[in-house]
Amino acid sequence: RVKASGVSSYQFANTQVAVDARSEYALISELRSAVEQEQMELVYMPQIALEDGAISGAEALLRWRHPRLGLLAPAMFIELAERNQLLKPIGEWVCQQVVKDAHALNAQGKDTVLSFNLSASQMDDAGLVDRLRLLIEESELPAGSLRIELKEDTLLHHVAEIENLLHRLHQLGVGLTIDNFGAGACAVETLTRLPIDLLKIDQRLLRDTENDPAKRSLASTMIAVAQIMGKEVVAEGIETQGQADFLTGRHCHHAQGFYYYRPMVFETFTRILH
Ligand code: C2E
Ligand code: MG
Ligand code: MG
Repeated sequence: RVKASGVSSYQFANTQVAVDARSEYALISELRSAVEQEQMELVYMPQIALEDGAISGAEALLRWRHPRLGLLAPAMFIELAERNQLLKPIGEWVCQQVVKDAHALNAQGKDTVLSFNLSASQMDDAGLVDRLRLLIEESELPAGSLRIELKEDTLLHHVAEIENLLHRLHQLGVGLTIDNFGAGACAVETLTRLPIDLLKIDQRLLRDTENDPAKRSLASTMIAVAQIMGKEVVAEGIETQGQADFLTGRHCHHAQGFYYYRPMVFETFTRILH
């Protein structure tokens, strides 16, 4: 883990790197050893309970500190990892790290929930639930202090299998969030059947809500749909006071975004919880 704290060390380096065939090939081979070489890092984006403005949790976001290219965002490598069957060890590292961090918070008596992201291919993994159960048991962590985020698109294929997996995760006691709600094409009917606790409204739906009445109506409707489904609602990608005020007026439960906090290293997150 890097000692540097603060935001500046987490600005991405050269994200404009052209990923031509050759450099893609190089990236794949470097990805193979990235976990082992301890190049993966997590940053945490705080989530705010809008009712009282307190920090209710944080979302773990993956970064790859590449030896030549600098700090890489998931857009640069998650899909590549997925296509080359390399996401499993990375995902396992993420789970372990989040459980470890959640355990540390728990030991300090902090009542916060840490969320982490899983991609579609990780939902194929038969051992996922068992590994997670083992990690939780070993760390004696209340399962409710962990939450998994799944993109809405994940539910478009193999719904029956995923439904089964979600029920097993739910039985384990971890929270479940549908990420990017409203951006995918998943049937609302499907979502009502699943043991989901939270819907995270996609940031594109919330853009310009302070200026554009049509966008405001659409966003209000999406929040209302989530509420009618009996789910808690998180808004993401909030960048302005206007957007924040809009959400409070809509009785949205939680929010995250650059307006509140940028992603930060775990040590900084622990500090701001005080
Ligand atoms: P996501 O889960 O929807 O995460 C939200 C993304 O939006 C993050 O980008 C975050 O930095 C960014 N964001 C949050 N608030 C704001 C804001 O106010 N304004 C703007 N412009 N952006 C904001 P990031 O970290 O690059 O992650 C991108 C995606 O990569 C994530 O989308 C998630 O789907 C995926 N991802 C991240 N970490 C992991 C991981 O550990 N495993 C897997 N499988 N996927 C991950
Ligand atoms: Mg997410
Ligand atoms: Mg999202």
